[in-house]
Parts: sequence; C-alpha cells; structure tokens
Amino acid sequence: MESMSRKSALKAKPELGQAETSSRPIALLQWYDRHRRRLPWRAMPGETPDPYRVWLSEIMLQQTTVKAVVPYFEKFVARWPDVTALGNASQDDVLRMWAGLGYYSRARNLYACAVAVTREHGGVFPDTEEGLRALPGIGPYTAAAIAAIAFDRHTMPVDGNIERVVSRLFAVEEELPQAKPLIQQLAATLLANSRAGDSAQALMDLGASICTPKKPACALCPFTEDCTARAQGTQDTFPRKAPKKSGTLRRGAAFVVIRGDELLVRSRPEKGLLGGMTEVPGSDWLAGHDDATAKQQAPELKGLSRWQRQVGVVTHVFTHFPLELVVYTAKAEARTRAPAGMRWVPIATLADEALPNVMRKVIAHALDLSTAPPS
Ligand code: SF4
Repeated sequence: MESMSRKSALKAKPELGQAETSSRPIALLQWYDRHRRRLPWRAMPGETPDPYRVWLSEIMLQQTTVKAVVPYFEKFVARWPDVTALGNASQDDVLRMWAGLGYYSRARNLYACAVAVTREHGGVFPDTEEGLRALPGIGPYTAAAIAAIAFDRHTMPVDGNIERVVSRLFAVEEELPQAKPLIQQLAATLLANSRAGDSAQALMDLGASICTPKKPACALCPFTEDCTARAQGTQDTFPRKAPKKSGTLRRGAAFVVIRGDELLVRSRPEKGLLGGMTEVPGSDWLAGHDDATAKQQAPELKGLSRWQRQVGVVTHVFTHFPLELVVYTAKAEARTRAPAGMRWVPIATLADEALPNVMRKVIAHALDLSTAPPS
C-alpha cells in the first residue's frame, strides 16, 4: 500500500474499492461493541446520551487525560447534575471546583457556556455543529464531538488520538498541522452510515488503547490487515510533525507572606493566563528577569520580617513557555492589614481556593521550608 500525501490521497480516494471503503467502518464498530471503554459520561448500549455530560467531558478532556478528568467529572455532576444547575452556580465556585485541572480559561468558558445554554436556550443544548459552535468555549472539534456523540450527527471529530490512527492507517506523509484537513477528510471515510457517535468514540478508544503513541498493539487492531504504516513497519513515525519550538524560559519571584496561620493572596486579572485564579503576590514573569528586579515587586506591608529567599526554585511548564520562580517568605505581625487588592486566607482552607498548580507548588515549597525554626 502506498503512503499518502494530500494530492495522492485526494486522487486515490475514488480508486478505493467499495468493499474496502465500507468494511472499515463496520470493522471499527464491531471492535467497539466488544471493547469500548466504560466511562462515566458515556451512554451504554440502549441508553440515550446526555448532552450535558457529553459537553462537560469534552471540555474537561481538552489537553487532559481521561484518568485526570474522571474524579473532576464526578464531582461536577454530583454538585451540578444538569446544565441549568451549573448555569445558576457562581463562577467562583466553578473555578474552585476546577482548580488543579489546568488551562483555566476552559473553566471560565465552561461556566459562560452553561450560563448561555441556561438563559438563551432554555437549558437545552443546540443539536447542530453550527449551533454548538456559537456557544462560548466550543470550537470546531468540540462541536463535532458533541454533535456526533450526543445527537448522532454524521460528522467525525478529529482529536490527537484520531489523528494518530488515521495518519498511520493511510500513512499520511504531510506534516501536522498542515495535514489536518487531509486527515479530517480521511477520518470521515471511517464513519458508519448510522451510529456516527459510536464511530467517533470507537476511533477515540482505538487511539487511546491500541494505536498508542509508542508500540501500538497492531495485532489487536481491527485495521491490522489494512494499515499502510503497519505494512511498512513505520507506525512509530506517524503522525509526521514539524519540529516543535519550545517557548523561552521566563523567570520571576513569588512572595509568600504568613500571618499566624494565614497566608496573603490575591486574584489574578480576569483576562489572560490563569485568569481569575488565586495566587500569592509575585513579580512579572519575564525572559531575562533577574532576582533583584523581581524582588522590587514584593508587596509592601507594615511590620513585616525580612524576606527570606528559599533554597531552590519552583519550575512549571505552561503550554507556551517554561517558568522558574524564586520563592521569598516573610512573616507579618498579627493584625497587619493586607495591601489593596489582597486578602488573608487561613492556610487550613487553601484547598478551597482556586489555586492553579504552579501556585500550589510555590506554597508547598514555601511552607515546607518555613517549618524550619523561625528566623
Ligand atoms: S494496525 Fe497498528 S498502526 Fe495501524 S491503525 Fe492499527 S494499531 Fe494503528
């Protein structure tokens, strides 16, 4: 079987035999009926999918693993069993419940979407890709996934798992992301005439459990006789990708101020990275920042002990850049007032704050070290 560039794929498509084009979707569904994953948001055979659960899971799964998502999904549906309940919640509660799942703009969009469905659509999700895309936080992939899975629309959502399966099955030589339209087109050939949602979920499951990034279990794959990359022995080399550019390292300082059993925090601006989340005061995060400049941005409080620079740094990797933070700690006297825009929170209730992972690391770093004898 020949590998496929965009041009050859488009040319080759009409040459595929009828039996070949139609047998793949059937083989895929037969495999799914035997091996589907049991997931808390997934309808079992005979059940009607719940668009709220499908939508919630798809938003949570963006750039996050199933394993990480399951406990969050269960907490969310226990507290807010339908979209109207979520749409009537407060954004702060939603952000707090989301804390630790990362990519916080998703949580804000999730809430905005629940509000829109509740107020503008009477608590009922639109059932077309177009209608879904008009909602906050729903891009083309998520709209296609919800339309297929919740409403059985004839469309194939293409995520990273599906890209991998399809690029191997057809040996797509074009690099990502340029290859996306071609992969989308080829993925659509795997849709069965009915059960579109199951076709999509089958391909997602195949990518997650069989056609894995390393050492795919080709012997167990429904496409094993039919896969170009397998025939070539080149599975591990797909999908082809342009070399990744990693972001420039940014540096900054975090200031952990302790007043008795309380900690000084503030909320980040609503817009931008980690928008609306809780943080300890800190400097800007800049490439080429040095310690002395960063320290000039320490909060000013009356009756503060000297800043202690903690040994080591806290590192964190965001999507577009790695970050390195120096951590300073200081103790404030009882009744010291918080500077404007900041507040004291009990250390014992920090778990209830919408703290992003990077701040959890900073606080853990500071508190562990500050349990040493006080200065
Ligand atoms: S045969 Fe192997 S490489 Fe091809 S689609 Fe199946 S698991 Fe992936």
